[in-house]
Amino acid sequence: MTRRQYNEQEICKSCGLCCDGTIFDHTSIEKNEIFPNIIQYKNKKYGLRQPCCYFDKQCTIYNDKRPKDCSTYKCDLLKSLSSHQLELDQVITLIRHIKTQKTRLYQLIPNANTKLRLEDNFNNFLEKNKPKLKTKQFKNKYSSLLLEWALYQQRLLRFHDRTS
Ligand code: SF4
Ligand code: SF4
Repeated sequence: MTRRQYNEQEICKSCGLCCDGTIFDHTSIEKNEIFPNIIQYKNKKYGLRQPCCYFDKQCTIYNDKRPKDCSTYKCDLLKSLSSHQLELDQVITLIRHIKTQKTRLYQLIPNANTKLRLEDNFNNFLEKNKPKLKTKQFKNKYSSLLLEWALYQQRLLRFHDRTS
């Protein structure tokens, strides 16, 4: 059986998880790169805040000059695909599943703002409920959200393991 051909750029364009704030909170910009909307971070490095201002369902400058950080990054999923640990269908399914799960989480987080990163919404939710986090009542009331969040974190590791 022959392996289905794939084009990494097409996968990335239809995925966008590197651009919409799912995996990163910013895109790094090097000193010699010029882009509008660059902000300086506390560590004195420069970057574009995510969701990226060039992201509109997919990268709108993909075929122009993108930041080096974008053009050189390859997530763990793509690495697994190129090393034959995953097949194209599996990669596409994983991307589809995580997107569906994100939609569910936005619905489960009370008053979630879809313009903000999902992680920021979840952290704001935790912050608002700080005094109640360890109570049985809180855990029962938000059991679906807490379980879904834990599963989501697990799934995200397939794309980018922040601990490694
Ligand atoms: S998460 Fe992977 S497949 Fe998705 S845009 Fe980033 S590098 Fe591409
Ligand atoms: S410039 Fe394009 S590829 Fe890079 S983060 Fe922004 S939308 Fe994504």
